[in-house]
Amino acid sequence: MSDCLFCGIVAGRIPAKIVYQDDQVVAFHDINPQAPLHVLIIPREHIATINDLGAEHEALVGRLYLVAQRIAREAGFDESGYRVVMNCNADAGQSVYHIHLHLLAGRHMTWPPG
Ligand code: AMP
Ligand code: ZN
Repeated sequence: MSDCLFCGIVAGRIPAKIVYQDDQVVAFHDINPQAPLHVLIIPREHIATINDLGAEHEALVGRLYLVAQRIAREAGFDESGYRVVMNCNADAGQSVYHIHLHLLAGRHMTWPPG
């Protein structure tokens, strides 16, 4: 999708502080971090929302979580804790319509989220 911000990051057209990438996934620092560590983990494939996921994406979604786990561990937050969250549509506050897993760590977080 040429007009998608995160497809632009995947393609290298838009700069990002990339922390991990493989053949299916790219992870980069959020431009407006909400915690000392705030990384977005996205599929290279353009998928607009969770509602657009199908059975063919089962392994891909699992990989997003394994990449989050790896980044959290390498940053030293595996024991202290971290949060992974994916927003879907307006009520959840989704603002970029290319699915992304937020990885947040480095501070105490409250529940329920606002
Ligand atoms: P969401 O509100 O769940 O759709 O999350 C979108 C996230 O993308 C927000 O946390 C933004 O700060 C982040 N974001 C927007 N533009 C960029 C960008 N160019 N590079 C990195 N993160 C971005
Ligand atoms: Zn996209």
